[in-house]
Amino acid sequence: EPPPGCPPDVEQLGRATWTFLHATAAYYPEKPTPTQRANMLMLLKSLPVLYPCTWCAQDFGESIEENKPDVSGRVALSRWLCERHNEVNEKLGKERFDCAKVDERWKDGPPDGSCD
Ligand code: FAD
Repeated sequence: EPPPGCPPDVEQLGRATWTFLHATAAYYPEKPTPTQRANMLMLLKSLPVLYPCTWCAQDFGESIEENKPDVSGRVALSRWLCERHNEVNEKLGKERFDCAKVDERWKDGPPDGSCD
């Protein structure tokens, strides 16, 4: 773990980016407007072009070519993103995340209220 104030390494950048993406998906509307859909699609498609880890960006680009982003609503988008994150987890030898738990992890917190 690099000291505070250092530029992000691939791990820190990844955690920050997943946090942003999953949280944004968790609060994406259930019935997005065409403008919201178009902007979400642009956000996701920007990553392969701009994400500052070139091999991550390239693999993510291939992943979203094979699995087109589902920007139809928050539940579908959260699920789609969870699956893409699981592909990266798998590639890195990390555990798969149970996608039934995305809302608990990124929106509602656990039922025991321990995050309130
Ligand atoms: P992270 O994988 O960063 O996850 C953060 C938290 O998200 C976890 O603690 C967990 O609570 C939750 N979580 C885990 N899986 C899911 C899921 N499927 N759905 C919802 N929530 C979940 N690193 C590389 O070394 N090589 C790569 O090619 C690479 N590609 C990447 C591509 C993208 C688009 C992004 C955003 C990151 C990429 N990374 C890559 C970084 C990598 O995914 C991790 O972020 C990094 O290794 C830190 O991992 P972590 O174990 O701290 O948890």
